[in-house]
Amino acid sequence: MSDHHNPDAEPKKKINWFIILIVLFLLTFGLNLINMRQGSSASFQISYDQFLDLVEAGVVDQVYMNDDQIRIALREDADLNKVSSILSPASGSNASGSNASIREITLPRTVILYTGRVDDPQLVSALRSGKVRIYEEIPEQTSIFSVIASWLVPMAVMYLLYFFIFRMLMKRAGGGEGGGFLGGISGIGKSKAKVYNVEKNTGITFRDVAGQDEAKESLEEMVDYLKNPKKYQNIGARQPKGALLVGPPGTGKTLLAKAVAGEAGVPFYHLTGSEFVEMFVGVGASRVRDLFQTAKKNTPCIIFIDEIDAIGKKRDVQMATNDEREQTLNQLLAEMDGFETNGGIIVLAATNRPEVLDQALLRPGRFDRRIIVEKPDLSGRESILAVHSKKVTLAPDVDLHEIALSTSGASGADLANIVNEGALRAVRMNRTAVSQADLMESVETVFAGKEKKDRVLSAKERQLVAYHEVGHALVSALQKNAQPVQKITIVPRTMGSLGYTMSVPEEERYLLTKEELMAQITMLLGGRAAEIVRFGAETTGAANDIERATDLARKMVTQYGMSDQFGSMGLASTQSQYLDGRNISTCSEATNAQADEAVRQILSRCQRDAEELLRSHSDSLDAIANTLLEKENISGKEFMELLKAS
Ligand code: ADP
Ligand code: MG
Ligand code: ZN
Repeated sequence: MSDHHNPDAEPKKKINWFIILIVLFLLTFGLNLINMRQGSSASFQISYDQFLDLVEAGVVDQVYMNDDQIRIALREDADLNKVSSILSPASGSNASGSNASIREITLPRTVILYTGRVDDPQLVSALRSGKVRIYEEIPEQTSIFSVIASWLVPMAVMYLLYFFIFRMLMKRAGGGEGGGFLGGISGIGKSKAKVYNVEKNTGITFRDVAGQDEAKESLEEMVDYLKNPKKYQNIGARQPKGALLVGPPGTGKTLLAKAVAGEAGVPFYHLTGSEFVEMFVGVGASRVRDLFQTAKKNTPCIIFIDEIDAIGKKRDVQMATNDEREQTLNQLLAEMDGFETNGGIIVLAATNRPEVLDQALLRPGRFDRRIIVEKPDLSGRESILAVHSKKVTLAPDVDLHEIALSTSGASGADLANIVNEGALRAVRMNRTAVSQADLMESVETVFAGKEKKDRVLSAKERQLVAYHEVGHALVSALQKNAQPVQKITIVPRTMGSLGYTMSVPEEERYLLTKEELMAQITMLLGGRAAEIVRFGAETTGAANDIERATDLARKMVTQYGMSDQFGSMGLASTQSQYLDGRNISTCSEATNAQADEAVRQILSRCQRDAEELLRSHSDSLDAIANTLLEKENISGKEFMELLKAS
């Protein structure tokens, strides 16, 4: 559906330019060659007194003088032996060589002898008495022409070369004209390239998008507008021109945009912001212009700009400004201002980094509506699983609610992936339906990498891993604020973890108290604590736990205002809320050092708590770890029974 410039229209023109260039090169080169030839015809320098001797001897017919030198023409009847004898003594030092050359040069009368011009007042009278004709050369006449030629030709060549390369780059970039002077010229050969994707009918409706009820509600209005523009025009209501879909990757932003087009039954024009980044100057802007022009002819329709942050970044944040991006953004802004509100076009854009967007994009009349597309909650996950498992055959034992429970934090794309992985597993095992075990297995595959049967742990390693995992689970269960355990396993996974404890919140939590955060950190450090309590050893297996615990503790200090030292003072600000959540510090070096100390205190307190908890329940720890070693997997229910029993 996206076809780039048609390849057979342009090459002929290119060849023409190429031929002109080659001819120009040959011409200048050839002229130079001819000049060199002339310059190298036989000429021979003599000394000034030899010249005077020649004049005195009466063999000189004419002299041509310019500022630098005197060229001498001999008489036709001049005695060549006499000439030789005058010229030879001066070059007596290297006798044979110079004699030879003189014999050579004195033979033809056309030979040019020349000498340097000396300031000699007697020269003219000497020449007159020798009956020599004198010509003073007038050099000026030719110079204007030659100067023009020597400047203009290379300039023309350079210009054509530049122009030619520029055109070639423009063609490579997918056609269209650039801005300004050169753009105007290259516009002569503008290709009729289509530079965006268009789907006449996306075939996707809101039913394909599970959950996201709030987002769908906001978009419903746009669908209605596209279907019945008259209704709005008659009453004089002004419709929003555009909406920005904001949310983490894989949450269904693209899907929602397509669903709007599908619901309204209008064409879907689709551009991706990142496609502009590597483009040449002017191409991005011309793509945007082309897109809007075509869309205006095909109303009603949807224009969708995915990853708009790639072009819509704040214009001042980067040190080196990207002219191309800026031009594209400006063109987009101009187009958005340009079309009529009631023109039947709705512009949707998607981003997972709303905080980097240029404010100009968010002004009224542009993307003034924000539609938040968050990661799904428990019921959202269940309905997304339901939508995707409609396409596969499910065994009767499948309980999507349980899958939804164990996939907290998964995006829509993750869940679609889980269903597909489950189906693949069923096929691999020659079954005709997807079972609950398949789905549970693929939850783990998607979250923790594929199960790795061939990885063999030594008995000692298995023991360490088992205690580590039970440590997490036990600490979690023993703290009343912590999340209950769903599953513990010591089957190694490819993604690096040797086992893991899956904990699932009883309900979705958006607000956490300080105590709950401390309990989470304690739980994360429970693995390491169990290793210490039981074996007095510290292993590398805790690296990921430590990273996550430290991250949480740092957030408590710098962002949540939960440390004793700083109270409600914010020490960092979030840069990219939806992508990686990376923070930048907003305080001084000294304060940073204090913050590190506060983080360390939180961590060591949690570590101590975890160790104490496990020491006071070491019987349970041993009992559960031994069961885990035996069975490799234990469920949350089994775990609780073991805990109660011991
Ligand atoms: P985004 O554009 O937000 O990164 P996409 O719209 O490309 O995410 O979603 C990727 C895939 O994930 C979709 O093609 C769809 O299969 C699945 N998906 C995501 N969210 C949902 C949802 N709410 N309902 C159904 N499927 C979803
Ligand atoms: Mg997308
Ligand atoms: Zn761990």
